[in-house]
Amino acid sequence: TAKRNRSGTAMYDAEADSHSSEQLGVIGELHRAIAGDELVLHYQPKVATGTGELVGVEALVRWQHPVRGLLPPGEFIPQAEDDEIIVALTDAILEMALVQHRTWRDAGVELPVAVNIAAGGLYDNAFPDRVAAALARHEVPGAMLTLEITETSIITDPAEVQTILDRLRDLGVKLSIDDFGTGYSSMAYLQTMPLTELKIDRRFIGSVHESPSDEAIVRAILELARALGLKVVAEGVESADALALLETMGCPFAQGYHMSRPLPAGDVLTWAAGRVGV
Ligand code: C2E
Ligand code: CA
Ligand code: CA
Ligand code: CA
Repeated sequence: TAKRNRSGTAMYDAEADSHSSEQLGVIGELHRAIAGDELVLHYQPKVATGTGELVGVEALVRWQHPVRGLLPPGEFIPQAEDDEIIVALTDAILEMALVQHRTWRDAGVELPVAVNIAAGGLYDNAFPDRVAAALARHEVPGAMLTLEITETSIITDPAEVQTILDRLRDLGVKLSIDDFGTGYSSMAYLQTMPLTELKIDRRFIGSVHESPSDEAIVRAILELARALGLKVVAEGVESADALALLETMGCPFAQGYHMSRPLPAGDVLTWAAGRVGV
């Protein structure tokens, strides 16, 4: 199979040849999963590095498969990204996250929520209108929603994505670059795109306290973000040592197993109890 990846490069995909019927099966089943409420969102706390206070959550999708059990996103998101089903999937996830935001707000906690948007979900001229409609339907202010996108998505077609991001920004929605530092070396987009946040990829964070080169990269990203007025979140913080160093370095926000794994929605407020902030 010669197929095109998102940057338009033709590549041979032997994997797809040998698994294409399995692949079709996953997509077919995903239609059922979306319609039948088999998708679940878990939420990972995002905290202020210094105080540990909860400042928001990232929604991470799982599939409660009737036969295979709870599937992580790596088992179906990559397949969905190569199919138009990514649009319906993105809508369903956004919807669930906003409903959950309302549930927490009704419980007295206004918790900003971040949703991951794959390239296929972003490159859709109707996407900003659907986000606007979903926010209005649930009466959620745009500023309560962050969309996490990757550098790769931006670079695919900067002119087209600029229009879409500007419309999202007009809704007050916050835009975050996920896995920052792993995508492209061109950073020109940082000057033109209406971004609010960089998430430093966990490959630089996990061992930041014992790797001088990781530390140097993290310092450089922090400096860059400061100069550009962007928030920074370190992801993949797995130890007290990494967290302490990040705080010393002036990294304001962090996420990772050391603070909390992604949690079922019902566990988030229990986890947050006693933490100041929201
Ligand atoms: P991501 O957006 O970079 O999400 C962070 C991933 O790192 C999550 O894996 C999270 O559980 C994991 N993680 C968090 N803290 C730590 C840590 O301290 N150490 C380590 N080793 N890992 C940590 P998960 O939930 O399996 O998600 C994997 C990827 O799947 C996500 O990476 C994202 O690219 C994608 N994904 C997840 N949910 C969605 C979604 O709703 N929509 C889309 N389009 N993609 C999603
Ligand atoms: Ca993310
Ligand atoms: Ca990430
Ligand atoms: Ca990722």
